[in-house]
Amino acid sequence: MSDPAELSKAKYSRVLLKMSGEAFGHGGQSGISIDETLRIARQIKRVAESGVQIAVVVGGGNILRGAQFSAKGEVINESTAHYMGMLATLMNGLALQESLESIGVQTRLQTALRVDSVAEFFIRRRALRHLEKGRVVILGGGTGNPHVTTDTAAALRGIELEVDVLLKATRVDGVYSDDPEKNPHAVRYDRLTYDRTIKEKLRVMDLSAIEMCEKNKLPILVFNYKKEGNIERAVAGHTIGTLVSE
Ligand code: UDP
Repeated sequence: MSDPAELSKAKYSRVLLKMSGEAFGHGGQSGISIDETLRIARQIKRVAESGVQIAVVVGGGNILRGAQFSAKGEVINESTAHYMGMLATLMNGLALQESLESIGVQTRLQTALRVDSVAEFFIRRRALRHLEKGRVVILGGGTGNPHVTTDTAAALRGIELEVDVLLKATRVDGVYSDDPEKNPHAVRYDRLTYDRTIKEKLRVMDLSAIEMCEKNKLPILVFNYKKEGNIERAVAGHTIGTLVSE
């Protein structure tokens, strides 16, 4: 969907989009693909131009994940590896920022980890002000703390910024009873409660992120970002993916 009329009737007025690092990569390989980043940027642009306020939490898995990296040997302390992962999210954040600005979208990159020369520090009220002014707010550096992931950052910032929905972009069509990439008989759920998601250990987000969303009644829409136009469809409230709510 790229029909702006659809987005003008968007269901949500402020959203938080969680993009995993792999969305900025070259299909499973390490590094950043500018083509892929621009593809995402063009969709975000259409959302922002429709008047929907959008904040984007970026992951870093295309460059480095702390837990995997530190597991490779005993040289790198695990906490350090997580800080490296947080820095990786900032690289993706800068790539997304430049891609958006290159197509005429106003952005601000905020970071939870102090890197003063490249991004402003995350300050909730400032982020809200940027959103109100129609700027796309990119959130890098995760939570700023090691041993968690950007899923937790997405839940946390979604709650702080009082968004209507957390849009969790994945490469599958939603939440399945089993891994759909391995089990062809896995079934997709249209809707799930937080409770069931937690009890059945369904692969939505980290447990701490789901629990935080449950406590604060923040719905999560898990959808496939690989299908062109799906970010806009998710914002417009189309019945795609899996909605996790009360
Ligand atoms: N990370 C962290 N604290 C945070 C967010 C991220 O320590 O609040 C580190 C962690 O090591 C993580 C890495 O940064 O593996 C990259 O983030 P993530 O794995 O969430 O990226 P994604 O899987 O979404 O690409």
